[in-house]
Amino acid sequence: MALTWPDRLVIASHNEGKVAEIRELLATLGGDVVSAAELGLDEPEETGDSFVANALLKAHAAVEGAGLPVLADDSGLAVEALGGAPGIRSARWAGPDRDFDAAMARVERELAGQTNRRAAFVCVLAMAWPGGEARTFEGRIEGELTFPPRGGRGFGYDPIFIPDGYAMTFGEMDPAEKTAISHRAVAFAKLVAAFA
Ligand code: IMP
Repeated sequence: MALTWPDRLVIASHNEGKVAEIRELLATLGGDVVSAAELGLDEPEETGDSFVANALLKAHAAVEGAGLPVLADDSGLAVEALGGAPGIRSARWAGPDRDFDAAMARVERELAGQTNRRAAFVCVLAMAWPGGEARTFEGRIEGELTFPPRGGRGFGYDPIFIPDGYAMTFGEMDPAEKTAISHRAVAFAKLVAAFA
């Protein structure tokens, strides 16, 4: 059975870029979208041990603070030969200065001596409602890592990730093309379908 899309939804993110992107992705569903920052909500610590746990933790914390339905996300790069690392620690590998050159160099270092370069970007969206109900939607895009990093577009680990079926890294790709095929796009398509 289709879920009912709320008239007012909180995006549990303090990253205005992310909120703007999510607003655009949700435009077809209508309703009023506000960010956790606009409501002055605190960001909880990401203490979960999976993308799903962290997305739910962020969603439930914002429901508690706002008393409104909430959409939260958690995402990262999962490298097969590293047992899924950096995974939920993708942002933390870049340190407080958000140094992704250092984070990508660490991935390369930890892969030394390995031939398996398989990796996936993962995005989990969590919708939660006052009263405790929640749903999660997962998107993945599989690919191969390449070193040294290539391309100055995108963000994070984009310059070392080549999605399957492409020759370019996410860092070299037209941003519109990346947005159309990314892990985030896959997760949002599943979310939108659940409310159709
Ligand atoms: P989050 O904001 O806690 O979900 O952290 C996600 C982290 O995963 C980001 O800081 C990036 O390091 C990484 N990440 C997630 N999605 C992407 C992507 O599309 N490209 C590159 N890096 C990504």
